[in-house]
Amino acid sequence: TPALRIEGLRKVYDDGFEALKGIDLTVPQGEFYAVLGPNGAGKSTMIGIVCSLVRKTAGKVWINGIDVDIDFAAAKRSVGVVPQEFNFSLFEKVRDIVLNSAGYQGIPRSEAADRADYFLDRLGLYSKRNTQSRGLSGGMKRRLMIARALVHDPKLLILDEPTAGVDIQLRRGMMDFLAELNETQGTTIILTTHYLEEAEALCRKVAIINRGEIVEDTDTKSLLSQL
Ligand code: ADP
Ligand code: ADP
Repeated sequence: TPALRIEGLRKVYDDGFEALKGIDLTVPQGEFYAVLGPNGAGKSTMIGIVCSLVRKTAGKVWINGIDVDIDFAAAKRSVGVVPQEFNFSLFEKVRDIVLNSAGYQGIPRSEAADRADYFLDRLGLYSKRNTQSRGLSGGMKRRLMIARALVHDPKLLILDEPTAGVDIQLRRGMMDFLAELNETQGTTIILTTHYLEEAEALCRKVAIINRGEIVEDTDTKSLLSQL
């Protein structure tokens, strides 16, 4: 079963704007996929629907073979999501934010603790683990969201513009981390970006979205050879 399958996905916002015009996408297990497109193309809308943050107008979504309309809770347990907006309490401590998320997913704190510490360490946040999250920089907050998304050991990680607002050195570190996660754990990764260089450096496959349509779905290498 693919990590993600989308069929005929359509979104018409309340104001009548058609942000997605019936897109299809299949992401096999273990793949590293970029969803590339300019601002306003529909990337966040697509990710939002997959994570049920945005209601779809029509179409079907399966996460790890689970139809999100039939068992959203099970689908959600098999995916980690890093949205664009920071959405954690600024007054909670870093480590607790990660552990509480495991709790919501039904994983006991004791079981999640090692994973939480591992990812906080890997993402350079271990020394901040007992700090309230409002004391973190923007890049640290972004990395905190990645640690939180991974604590329940999802097979699929989806990140919406993960390097937005992250400075160039930290961007490199974050990209290395994701590459290693994909290689060593076999975690399927899908990220959105509007930087071709980022897709090129990191992702084996790229789906280009423009004005609500997927206009290209190919190997990153063959895309570059066309340019
Ligand atoms: P992005 O950074 O993905 O381009 P924007 O900055 O355009 O997103 O939008 C920020 C927020 O405003 C998002 O939650 C988005 O759903 C919402 N939004 C964007 N465009 C509109 C619009 N035309 N009408 C209402 N809400 C919008
Ligand atoms: P991207 O993530 O590729 O920048 P988005 O999915 O955020 O694109 O937005 C796609 C289009 O949908 C944009 O034209 C945006 O203005 C519009 N849009 C986003 N959210 C809303 C909303 N809540 N209401 C109306 N239009 C929206």
